[in-house]
Order: sequence, then structure tokens, then C-alpha cells
Amino acid sequence: MAKPSPRETTLQRLTAVRRHLDSQRINTLLVTFPPHVRYLTRFSGSNACCVITAQTAAFFTDGRYKTQAREEVVGYRVYIAAGTLFQEIRNRRIISRAGRVGFNPTTLRIAELESLKALFPSVRFSKVKNILDDLAAVKDVTEIARIRKAVSVSDEVFRSVLPLLKPGISELDIAAEIVYQHRRRGAEADAFEPIVASGPRGAFPHARATRKRVARGEFVTMDFGCRVEGYHSDLTRTVSVGKPGIRQRKIYQAVLEAQQLAVEAARAGMRAADLDAVARKSISRAGFARYFPHSLGHGLGLQVHENPRLSALSKDVLREGNVVTIEPGVYVPGVGGVRIEDDVVIRNRHAEVLTTSPK
Ligand code: ZN
Ligand code: ZN
Repeated sequence: MAKPSPRETTLQRLTAVRRHLDSQRINTLLVTFPPHVRYLTRFSGSNACCVITAQTAAFFTDGRYKTQAREEVVGYRVYIAAGTLFQEIRNRRIISRAGRVGFNPTTLRIAELESLKALFPSVRFSKVKNILDDLAAVKDVTEIARIRKAVSVSDEVFRSVLPLLKPGISELDIAAEIVYQHRRRGAEADAFEPIVASGPRGAFPHARATRKRVARGEFVTMDFGCRVEGYHSDLTRTVSVGKPGIRQRKIYQAVLEAQQLAVEAARAGMRAADLDAVARKSISRAGFARYFPHSLGHGLGLQVHENPRLSALSKDVLREGNVVTIEPGVYVPGVGGVRIEDDVVIRNRHAEVLTTSPK
């Protein structure tokens, strides 16, 4: 597949948004959430918004980002606000007086909505379906290449950290090394604070690293990721420091098998809830059903957690070009836990696994 130019990508996304405006019977969409602004405009700074109508596409930021906006934003008319972004929208008369303006209720703050209502007293602001999360869930080749890069950086980090996993190292030391090695290998940021949980602390699915030192025979679960050109990786491995006990092996085998079955089953057209069930049934057969308390995975892209959601309650159907994590886990109180997480691209007949770290 040929790589589309930034301008082509922007126009495609604008066309998709405009189709949605028609179907929702609104004439204007206001976008304020930074990952959504970035998806639409390529702008990577923090203070910006955009306004899209059938005919126009306007982008607003402040003076600090003047040069950056000129470099990054294509396909939009760029305005540099003297006051607030919303004041600039009013001064430029971008939103027509009698219009109906759609906004995303899950990302617009109440204070922002109040300030909009004060600035535009005759405009009707309406909640609209979160179209951008659905659009962004299907990645193009450029996006997949960026996620692939982020995943390969995290894979390298895992390999560089492995030799340090010896009795006596603290969870915090491991976390510090993970952060440092990511930067050294070109990551622009962490996807989130690395999770490092050893021994019984592994029973907490989202344990933060502590001063606890790793003891021989303990499991260490490390969940970490990074950001490259805006796109994220998210990877978990559980490692035994020294020889694991029989019960630990059983837990590890159960998670590994569930994870592999889910990766093998994943494909476009499948219900996300059915994929969650593949892993859950497998863990259930191994006797650990009640120790798998979270969903199977989530979409990955400009946000670390995005659509589609891989859970029993999800209504999502997997689509070609989705990038998702597959991360079952078993957490036994007092004993410890195991989680294994890969990042995969959903294809027509299979899932392409991006992660290469050994299990
Ligand atoms: Zn993770
Ligand atoms: Zn994850």
C-alpha cells in the first residue's frame, strides 16, 4: 500500500468527519481533546482546538506554537489566538450565530462548555457521538509504522533489562532502567509510569514500583510502553528470577496458553467480546477464572487506551487496521501474578503480532 501524504490523510479524515456531521444534523464540530486534535491536524502541541464545517477547517493555537503549527498543520486555516482559543473563534466569526455546534461530551470540560455558552449565547451546543475515537481506531500504514517503531523500542528495552533481573535489585531500580533505556533508544516519552511488581506484589494488576527488592524464586511482572511520533507501545512480561515453583509454573502456563489462543483467534469481523471469551474460557479451564479480573485488552494508538475495547461487555467488532493489546492475567492473592501482553494489528484472517520479546 502506498503511503498517503499528510495532506491526503488530513483530507480523508476531514471527509469522514463531514459525513458524520451530515448524519448527526449539525453544521459544525468543535474538537478540543489533544489526541483528537492531533489525529485531525497532526499538531503535537498541548493547547489547540479545531472547528470543522462542511466548507471550512480552522485550527487555533496560541503564540507559543506559531512556528510548530506552521510546520505540522496541513489542510487547515491556522489562527494564532491573542486571548483564549474560544475568544479567537468568536473574533474570527468562525462559528455562525445561529448554528448548531457539536462537541464530544466525554472530553469537553464543564468549565469549557460554560465559557463557550457565554461567548456564543445564540449558538446551540449539542453532544455528539464520539466519532473520532471510532475513526482513529482503524490505523493507516503510517500509523502502524509508528506503533511498530514504538513496540520495537520497548522490545529492545525488555532485552536490555533482562540481565539485571537478579535477586537484590529493587522494583524501583528496574523501573528507572526501563525509563532510561527507552529514552536512550529514541522514545519521546513513557506511555505511562512503568509497572514493576515482584513476588506477592504481583497479585496487584497495576502495582507501582516500590523499594521492595526481588528475591530468588519470585516472579517479576513488568508492564511498560513508550511513545514514538505520538504513537504508543504497551507491553507486559512476567519473568521468574531463579527457578519457579510448581504453582507458579501452573499460573504462567495458564496465562501463556490463554494469551496465545487469543492471539491466534483474533481477526477482523470478530466481536471483541468473543475474543475476550476465548482467553477467559482458557483461563477458566485451568482453574483460575476468578483470578482474571480485568478485560483482555484495548486499542492502542495516539492514546494508550482507546477503541476497540476487548472486554466481555464491549460492543465493538474488530476491524482490519485496529491495533490492540492482548493481555490476560492471573493474580492470586498472597502468591503473586502473571500477565503477558502483546500488541497486534488486526488483519483480515489473522492478527499480526508486533511484539517480539520472548515469553
Ligand atoms: Zn500494559
Ligand atoms: Zn495494556
